[in-house]
Amino acid sequence: MEEAFRAERFGESHRHARMALVVSIILNSLFFISDWRFQGDPHFFVAIPARAAVVAVSMVCLLLVTRISTHASMQRALILWQLVTAVSIGFLVSAHTDIALFVVIMLPAIFYLVVPAGFRVTLMGGIGCSICMLAGYVLPHGIDASTTGLVLAMVVMNASLILVVIKGNRLRRLEWSATLAERRANAELAASRKVLEKIFMAVPIPLVVTERSTSRLIQANHAAMHYFGGVTARAAEDALEDIYADPGQRSEFLRRLDAEGQVSNYEVAIKLADGTRRDVLLAGSAVQLEGVACVITGAIDISARKAMEARLENLATKDPLTQVSNRTEFFEAAEREMARAAVHGHPVCVVMMDLDYFKLINDAFGHAAGDLTLKAFADLCRACVRDHDHLARLGGEEFALLLPGTPRGEALAISERLRIAVENMKVEGAPTGLRVTVSVGVAEIDCSEGDVHLALARADLALYGAKMRGRNKVVDASETESGLDFVPIAAAQRQARFA
Ligand code: GH3
Ligand code: MG
Ligand code: MG
Repeated sequence: MEEAFRAERFGESHRHARMALVVSIILNSLFFISDWRFQGDPHFFVAIPARAAVVAVSMVCLLLVTRISTHASMQRALILWQLVTAVSIGFLVSAHTDIALFVVIMLPAIFYLVVPAGFRVTLMGGIGCSICMLAGYVLPHGIDASTTGLVLAMVVMNASLILVVIKGNRLRRLEWSATLAERRANAELAASRKVLEKIFMAVPIPLVVTERSTSRLIQANHAAMHYFGGVTARAAEDALEDIYADPGQRSEFLRRLDAEGQVSNYEVAIKLADGTRRDVLLAGSAVQLEGVACVITGAIDISARKAMEARLENLATKDPLTQVSNRTEFFEAAEREMARAAVHGHPVCVVMMDLDYFKLINDAFGHAAGDLTLKAFADLCRACVRDHDHLARLGGEEFALLLPGTPRGEALAISERLRIAVENMKVEGAPTGLRVTVSVGVAEIDCSEGDVHLALARADLALYGAKMRGRNKVVDASETESGLDFVPIAAAQRQARFA
């Protein structure tokens, strides 16, 4: 540590040493001129060589210090300068001039406080200089009453200056280690920032940092630049808010972020630079970056997953040929509607429909024409019923219709309209001459039965009645329940078909 400390402070010490030596040369040269006043005095022959020695050693040491580049050689040059200066000035103060006492006190203080030597050299230089000063000042004139006081004053001054030097040294080292620790912490921080930055850029998930108040883009990683394309390129000036297909979803995202500090698994639709719409899962965190409130948002594209889910749901709930509900969705809807009807007390009717002589259509016009007929029939039914009615293909050329909130009379009227519409239906793309009719059975659901199958069986029975009466007819289940004008089929047997 000490080595590192010295090495680091060397430049500063070197500069201070040169400055001290230059000042010594200038001051002593000036004193050299003033020393000519001793001309005629025996002290003249002491003062001139002594002063010349100080100026000369200062010059030599300045030359040495300028050329050297190590702490140890600088210390040696300073020891030489201190030694020659202390001895020479010791001779000079023997004159007891007006400023001699001032120099006796000042020179050791300068050695302690100004010369940038190491602690031991400073200590030896200070004490050695004090001894030289005392010897030079006291010895030529003999010891008298004031000598003890002067010696005591020098001892106290040396002790005080040593304390000052110790404290100063300790303070400088403490300050240096604090600076060192801070520098190290800053370097570690910068290194970990760099690592984080690298991770941020390399994460294969699109990540963007935006300003919370303006939604201006601050940073985007490689994946985000690739995914959002032109949006990130222009987002340096623009806000990212217009990326949301529905601005309401953005407001909701920010509301949750403000309330909880972070948002995860937030599903939104966005528009990409090329105008394509994508489904993404967002995760966001509120962060402070250099005092600015920001949001880090990650986006995972779930468009393919959503499309697959929609496809699976379609396969599970829709009839692939006609795209009307399949049996599963129909019975689920029926259960829901029955539960609702039980609460609100409104009537629900169920209608069974079967195309007449459909086998003959297939035989006469081909299976493809039969398919077109089934599709045309489903489209026609869809167009004739309300949004909340449920149309389903239960199998082959058999369809069912659930009519919530519809009394039997109205259901019969709807069925009749439908029957007439089918009679007049033209199957687009099928050979001319293809005509089809439908037989219909209508039953009202008794919600207390708690099972739609019983009502379906009654409707099916009515449908059977319509077939028996010559087809292309609408029959009310209440007529067939009596079983008067057709060959009755056990209701239980019909019900088993739908179970
Ligand atoms: P009815 O008036 O008594 O109902 O006579 P139908 O010929 O309509 O009744 P049947 O049950 O004998 O024949 C139904 C025919 O429907 C038999 C079958 O080949 C045909 N079919 C069932 N599903 C499809 C389908 O998806 N496409 C086509 N083209 N035909 C189908
Ligand atoms: Mg049939
Ligand atoms: Mg049929």
